Order: sequence, then C-alpha cells, then structure tokens
Amino acid sequence: MLDQYAVFGNPIAHSQSPQIHTWFAKQTHQRLQYTAILAPEDDFEASARIFFAKGGVGANVTVPFKLDALVFADKLSPRARRAGAVNTLQKGKNGEIYGDNTDGVGLVSDLTNNLGFSLMDKKVLLLGAGGAARGVIEPLLNAGIAQLKIANRTPEKAQQLVQVFHVLETGITLTSGNWASLEDEQYDLIINATSSSLSGDLPPLPDGLLTQKSLAYDLMYSKQPTPFMLWAKQQGAAQVADGLGMLVEQAAEAFFLWRQVRPETQPVLQHLKSLEKA
Ligand code: NDP
Repeated sequence: MLDQYAVFGNPIAHSQSPQIHTWFAKQTHQRLQYTAILAPEDDFEASARIFFAKGGVGANVTVPFKLDALVFADKLSPRARRAGAVNTLQKGKNGEIYGDNTDGVGLVSDLTNNLGFSLMDKKVLLLGAGGAARGVIEPLLNAGIAQLKIANRTPEKAQQLVQVFHVLETGITLTSGNWASLEDEQYDLIINATSSSLSGDLPPLPDGLLTQKSLAYDLMYSKQPTPFMLWAKQQGAAQVADGLGMLVEQAAEAFFLWRQVRPETQPVLQHLKSLEKA
C-alpha cells in the first residue's frame, strides 16, 4: 500500500493541498497517496484517530481544526507550542503523533525566495491575532526584522501575543494595539492575517501606512485581488501579494518533514498561478 497522507478541514472541497502534494510526490519520485478528509466540525479527534489507525502516516490540518490538532498531538515542536496551533501531523515509529506548524516558515520563504523581499531590518505590521498570526510571528522574529507591531480588532489578543513572544528575547521591538493606534506610522511590510478578506471586508486602516517601497501581503488567496490588496495598491504600495505562495511553501515544508526530500516549489506555484488567471 502507498503511504497515506491527508488534509483535514471543514469545508475541504476547495483545498489545493491534494493537488500540491501529488505534484511534489511526482516531482520527487515519492510513492504516496494524499486525500482530502471532511471532518465533522465537532469531532476532529475521531476522524484523525481513524485515519492514523488505518495506516495514515501524515496529515495537514486547516480551518477550523488547528487548535484541535494541537490537543491531538502527543508531542509538539517548540514553534507549534508557541504558535498554539498545529497544521502538520506525523506518525512516529512508536505510533506517537508529532505536531508541527509550517505556516510561518512558508510565509517567510514566500517573502524572501519567491517575492525577493529582504526582511532584514524591516519595520513590519501584522494585522490580526488569530491562529495564522500566531504561526507567523516566530519565523518573522527570526528573519532579521527590526520591529514588529501586532494590531487587532480585539487589541487584548494582540497584547497577549506580545507577552507570549517576548520570552524569545530577540531584542526586536514588539508592540501591539488597535486600528486607531496605527495613525502616523509607516511600515516596510504589512501582513494581513485577519480573516476579513474572507467576508469581503477590510479593517479600518488609516491612510499613509505604506510607502513606495512597501510590500503588502494578504494571507488569503483568491482568483480576484482581495479588498486588502486593492486598498494597498490604491495606497501606493510597491508590491502587493496574496497567500498562494505561502500555501505552497508551507506544504513543501510539511512534505520535507514527512519525506526528508525538499520539493521544488516554483513549478507548482507557477502552475497554480496560471490556473488562477484562467
Ligand atoms: P482566525 O479565525 O484564527 O483569526 C481571525 C483574525 O481575523 C482575528 O484576529 C480576528 O479578530 C480578525 N478578524 C476577523 N474578521 C475581521 C474583520 N471583519 N475585520 C477585522 N478583523 C477581523 O483565522 P486564521 O488566523 O486561521 O486565518 C486568518 C486568515 O489567514 C484567513 O484568511 C486564512 O484563509 C488565511 N490563512 C492563509 C494561509 C496560507 O497558507 N496562505 C495559512 C493560514 C491561514 P478578533 O480577534 O478581533 O476576532
């Protein structure tokens, strides 16, 4: 039997992960099968247990199960523990389940390798304090940025994240606030990790946050530019991107964890982009 992998989510029909991992497997000559599993919203654990009991060896986890996967895992990577979210599961030799989070590495890889944006000494604004935001903070702090501000609709959640990540003692200025606290500031990079674009919304951001050198990055991806991307263009950002590259890069990191082979992401990303345009 081929090694079995899957992505768990609800909904899951739209997921590009089976396609991406099947491409990676073909490219690297790995013999595996990767499927999408729709887990009941209130019972991720049962679905995941059945999958691993039937011989599953690894899984990705997407909305809304990243916290359930954190609880499900027997062991956690330090980055998954600090992120408080798991997007990758792997069955160990003794049957224990290892939980990791590859979202942040995926983002940093997309920014630096695919978009050619150096994070060194950059002033960064992260919008949102949910699961995705938590996952990207540590890799951003480790990538040489100078400052990070986390802004959220509920500012208390952003403040909690500042406390969680202060323990890393990176020496990087880490602050938080609400939307109003952003007045009169400018950033090299703004990352939208809110789910506002999912509902066609945009946080009430003040004018003047972006410069002609800034990059605006929306974690969400879709065929059409998101409201955040349209706003950033209109505000004069030099570069605007969606999260498709992050999706492919976090998948590549998970694939590497499972198979110890690093797939080439560019051909897969280019193919997905051409489908977006079709
Ligand atoms: P969560 O539900 O965990 O967090 C949602 C965040 O968005 C919270 O900070 C919430 O604020 C904020 N928010 C929700 N609605 C609005 C709104 N209308 N205006 C302003 N803020 C709002 O979601 P995730 O963190 O899991 O996902 C966030 C986004 O990232 C999604 O679009 C998801 O698709 C994308 N994503 C992309 C990935 C990729 O590979 N490209 C990987 C992971 C996620 P509050 O705290 O006040 O409720």
